[in-house]
Amino acid sequence: MIHTIDLRSDTVTKPTPEMLQAMFAAPVGDDVYGEDPTVNALEEKTAAMFGMEAGLFCPSGTMTNQIAIKVHTQPLTEIICDVTAHIHQYEGGGIAFNSAASTALVHGERGKMTPQQVEENIRPLDNIHFPETRLVALENSCNKGGGSFYTLQEIAAISEVCKRHHLSLHLDGARVFNALAASGDAAKDYGLYFDSISVCLSKGLGAPVGSVLLGGKDFIKRARKIRKVMGGGMRQAGYLAAACLYALDHHVDRLQEDHRKAKELEQALQQASYVDYVMPVETNIVIFKLNDSFRDDSFVQALAKQNIVAASFGPQMIRFVTHLDITEDMHQHLLQVLAAMNKEQVEV
Ligand SMILES: *Cc1c(COP(=O)(O)O)cnc(C)c1O
Repeated sequence: MIHTIDLRSDTVTKPTPEMLQAMFAAPVGDDVYGEDPTVNALEEKTAAMFGMEAGLFCPSGTMTNQIAIKVHTQPLTEIICDVTAHIHQYEGGGIAFNSAASTALVHGERGKMTPQQVEENIRPLDNIHFPETRLVALENSCNKGGGSFYTLQEIAAISEVCKRHHLSLHLDGARVFNALAASGDAAKDYGLYFDSISVCLSKGLGAPVGSVLLGGKDFIKRARKIRKVMGGGMRQAGYLAAACLYALDHHVDRLQEDHRKAKELEQALQQASYVDYVMPVETNIVIFKLNDSFRDDSFVQALAKQNIVAASFGPQMIRFVTHLDITEDMHQHLLQVLAAMNKEQVEV
């Protein structure tokens, strides 16, 4: 019997037996007192990987992003980000709620802004009407961009604009390891360009919970205070941090596997009679549009009959995300199902 193939997101993975063992074995303490050795080890290790001074373990990527925005901005200031950015689209309006800041939304190419677009959106300082631009936020890889990614060179060019205008640069790195696996860039070099980075361990890396916010020592000190106020001060969080450490040690190299599977899905979908177009696949996200022969809800239902769970991602749009829990057998089954759907009499 084939298990359910859940393609809705790379958040659906469950800890492996080895990861669970690492969790059980973790030395822990009260992290609000700074006494959890496993949390401290995770924060230090992640910071060192990205060439940053310090880290802060948080329950979610939404919290790491929102804390970063809160620390970087003041009310009446503005953040420049792409219109598709998670911080704008999927964090419940948290920027306005938590930080009373506004957003300048850039219409980039598949989630990616150019240095020119960033510069054009910086507000002139001497005009009383405008909010003050304070922060630029990138997302790597870009979720709504279909897993597109910035190269280090592109990041450096945007960082140059930020430095020239005294703006901070934040990275929403929910899938930063996917971006790095695809670009071949070194994590350590990110520290040269970003003032803060949110790294999620519960996406492609397969930990059950956890994101780490990275930044300078003073930034993280302030962020720790905001985390406490938001209710994110956890106690024996080392059990969770142990899963994250395990993921960093064992689940980074295998991301290429997820990318290969996503690429094969792209090829299968490009040949499918029911697909209008597939966004270019660069990492582990496959976004495609169905043509009129299949409505998105019937497509999702047809997959469900084959034990495949997917969700629509806008009108006639579907997103598949490959991850750790999609085995080779499942992947082959999926390719067969997608091919067989060509021959099916399609309903109206
Ligand atoms: C998943 C995700 C986040 C964080 O989500 P949480 O569920 O709060 O951990 C942030 N940014 C992007 C681009 C994401 O895909």
